[in-house]
Amino acid sequence: MKSVLTIGEILVEIMATDRGDGFLEPVPLIGPFPSGAPAIFIDQAARFGQPAAMIGCVGDDDFGRVNLNRLRRDGVDVSGIRIDPEAVTGSAFVRYRPDGSRAFVYNIKQSASGRIELDAAARAALARSDHLHVMGTALFSPAIVAAVLEAAEAIKARGGTISFDPNLRPEMLRLPGLSEACDALFRRCDLYLPSGEELTLFTVAGTEEGAVAEILRGGVRAVVHKKGAEGAVYHDAATRLVQPAFAVEEVDPTGAGDCFGATFVSCWLRDRPPAECLAYAAAAGALAVTRQGPMEGAATRAELDAFLAARSGRPA
Ligand code: ADP
Repeated sequence: MKSVLTIGEILVEIMATDRGDGFLEPVPLIGPFPSGAPAIFIDQAARFGQPAAMIGCVGDDDFGRVNLNRLRRDGVDVSGIRIDPEAVTGSAFVRYRPDGSRAFVYNIKQSASGRIELDAAARAALARSDHLHVMGTALFSPAIVAAVLEAAEAIKARGGTISFDPNLRPEMLRLPGLSEACDALFRRCDLYLPSGEELTLFTVAGTEEGAVAEILRGGVRAVVHKKGAEGAVYHDAATRLVQPAFAVEEVDPTGAGDCFGATFVSCWLRDRPPAECLAYAAAAGALAVTRQGPMEGAATRAELDAFLAARSGRPA
């Protein structure tokens, strides 16, 4: 079976248990939860049963260990995750505001994730992998950008494939080199997985239809446009498929796109038909939002099969 690799940030998320405007007074907290968009992605891929590995960096601390333990438990090859004794694993304190938006206090840029490099163990993980998944959130320093672009070249040179999820927070767009790196990955990827308005981020065309046509003309094999609770739309040169979201009670939206993406990519790497890839991915996205904690909602293949059977959405 084809193996999937990702590269990027690993952190813990610590959440306020009540809603409010931010962290201007002491509030009850729960956590640490393992987190980082690429880490959630690769955990979901492994839980689905795909051979999965990650390149990253954590400190020699409990926040690093809680991540390594979880990823290892779920079957991720963590040999490419460096433990840097000089660095501290990143963290994000999160509080949901009454309107559902999120207030964050981050320590990622200064954290161990900023020290990602392609050392011998990372290169070995890369050499064993068939597919690279990249997320824009990982591209927060010139050194990581260089590592990601080198990894992308190596995978392509071996005939492997790339998926790219921009996953960009607005404040990131000002980072030096970010848009050039995203543009380079966008042009090299086989599968493009934008969310909402990210569909037109790198296109001249401003409409959905025009952007999709332009992206496919540029050599991307398929576009999967994620639209939150509205579902997702798949496009390739021959097909357009709409996948409605499954109705569930949303507890915590964090991780939906990562779980959706990981499940889609895993099915796609097994050469399953796009409708089946979409159904499994939508089930993974829906299950992800029903559980509190960024990685807690990642589901196993058996859980996804049970969910789809119960919803009569089981792929034929
Ligand atoms: P991202 O987190 O990358 O912005 P989305 O929010 O679009 O991604 O979520 C990805 C997918 O997860 C959606 O296409 C949908 O299938 C599923 N999903 C997301 N939110 C919900 C929800 N509230 N209810 C059901 N499914 C959801």
